[in-house]
Amino acid sequence: MILPSEKAFTSAQLAEVESILAEYGCGVTVISGTTRTIYAISGDERDEEMVGRIEGLDFVERFDRIQAPYRLMHHSSDLSSHKVRLGSAVLGDGFHVIAGQCTIDPKNPQYFLETAHAVKEAGAVAIRGGVWKPRTSPNAYQGDDKALDILLRARQETGLPVSTEVMEDRHLQVVIDAGVDVIQIGTRNALNYGLLKLVGRGTAGTKMVVLLKRGMHMGPVDEFLCAAEYIAAGGNPNVVLCPRGTKPELDGYRNFPDESISPLLKARTWAPVVVDPSHSVGKAAFVPFASLAAAAYGADGLNVETHVCGSKGIGDDPKQAITPATLAQLIRDCKEIHGRSAGYRLPVQKA
Ligand code: PEP
Ligand code: MN
Repeated sequence: MILPSEKAFTSAQLAEVESILAEYGCGVTVISGTTRTIYAISGDERDEEMVGRIEGLDFVERFDRIQAPYRLMHHSSDLSSHKVRLGSAVLGDGFHVIAGQCTIDPKNPQYFLETAHAVKEAGAVAIRGGVWKPRTSPNAYQGDDKALDILLRARQETGLPVSTEVMEDRHLQVVIDAGVDVIQIGTRNALNYGLLKLVGRGTAGTKMVVLLKRGMHMGPVDEFLCAAEYIAAGGNPNVVLCPRGTKPELDGYRNFPDESISPLLKARTWAPVVVDPSHSVGKAAFVPFASLAAAAYGADGLNVETHVCGSKGIGDDPKQAITPATLAQLIRDCKEIHGRSAGYRLPVQKA
């Protein structure tokens, strides 16, 4: 990682840096953070001669070498002061909730629009709604491009940012063109490095936020952070980590709840952690408990399925969606618990 002396390199300075790096088989990605621009090196950045030549340039402040397999997501990276903004909220500063339906039903748009207004009223800072769905059975409802118009209408009516999942290049291009605020990468694609790279590159230099779910079969915490690194290394540092439960499931729950990894993540990375309690436990009645646990574990927020009339919903909504009234109560309670857990200090991992 190279830090410029000024806020950013001029194009002539960048060209000089690039030509030195190229001699050693390395490249550079420009990453615009909140406070300054940093230059991430791809390739083996350990060559002493190369480091010396870059450090010798009078427009370079320093050359940082983080040994962790994830350099940009690391707690000590030059991105550590980067703030991920979602509408008027700064994620990582207080407790923020993204809420809305699992799946937008294009045949019944009124439910999604009512849900959008109701979650806003309940205190959510962004609205979620699945346009395309990754379904276990190819015969189950797969989504519909028409649902995107309903999502955008909800944004227009409420003024809140909106979030939806992409599974392939075409979805990605459609949401980039539409300026959707949050791109969700679902649990099934959390290790799809090709897609992660495309998302990072496709949204580089934009305000778009990428909410990365934890893979349901992911083991070590670092595997999750490395997946996030692909997005940041593509050029978009607006990454949010979303634990959502893993397999094998805890008997009686849909997955094995993993909100408990929140403090581990926060000790290793600067990125905000937003827990999904809905897919974790998989039943509406258990969701408030998992939400409170996430707040107690120091998560920065929730991504929670909510529906004005879950029984009329599609996808996961009949089973998992909480009501807007429950959402309002749990947002209040989680904020209080989060405030208390914020009083405890985390150990920070060394570079
Ligand atoms: C969802 O958010 O509706 C979803 C499909 O999530 P996950 O990828 O975590 O299963
Ligand atoms: Mn769902």
